[in-house]
Amino acid sequence: MGCPLSKKKQKPRTIHVSPKKQGSANVAAKPPCNACNFPLGTDHAPAAIVNIAPTANGNRIQVALGSAEAQGSRTDSNLVFAWSGGANSSLSLDGNKYKPTQFHFHTPSEHTLDGTQFPLELHVVHAAGDGKFVVLCFVFQYGDAEDPFLAQMWTSVPQLASPRPSLPVGQVDGSSLVTSKQAFYRYSGPPPESVEWLVVQQPRIVTPGQVAILFGALRTTNARVARQPTSRPVTLLS
Ligand SMILES: [Zn+2]
Repeated sequence: MGCPLSKKKQKPRTIHVSPKKQGSANVAAKPPCNACNFPLGTDHAPAAIVNIAPTANGNRIQVALGSAEAQGSRTDSNLVFAWSGGANSSLSLDGNKYKPTQFHFHTPSEHTLDGTQFPLELHVVHAAGDGKFVVLCFVFQYGDAEDPFLAQMWTSVPQLASPRPSLPVGQVDGSSLVTSKQAFYRYSGPPPESVEWLVVQQPRIVTPGQVAILFGALRTTNARVARQPTSRPVTLLS
């Protein structure tokens, strides 16, 4: 597969600075990720993000990730790690509070940045009590250093090559994912799911060996094709 958008130049997007407001909150929202299993080819496609000038974050996005035990499981096309993030994890978006529920991976990346598709993407799914979700996304580019967040549960990944309900993988600390200088691309998913997407602008570093271990367990690619949103403006908050 590949991203068709990567073959043509995208026009710069207009910057929309107004915070998105969700519509009716009475729609029964389903989790955005078992894992991100929205139908292919729909408007649920992840965003192809292009050439966006930053605007001030203010206090609209505040992220902290702590430490908690994680449980890995295998789905048809993904490895899902149930994870609460512990008492020190919190995500605030426009004043609404969310807590982590699980994280999982896509290879290659689902989001593209200026036409670039990355070898790996991490989705940390956050939920609020009212059925709304935030997916906090990190893309990874190849480098020489192993990613310390992945290293915590990577020795368990080969054990998840076969379907299984639950595998304890020990304590997982998310604090290395968060820095004080992070900038976030942000856009809203389409209704009826109440999903906000936050993509950290700066790619993390992963080794080819770490991606190979994941692919060895997945034995498939599992990224949807990114599309440039037409009805969902993307902002960059820094
Ligand atoms: Zn996902």
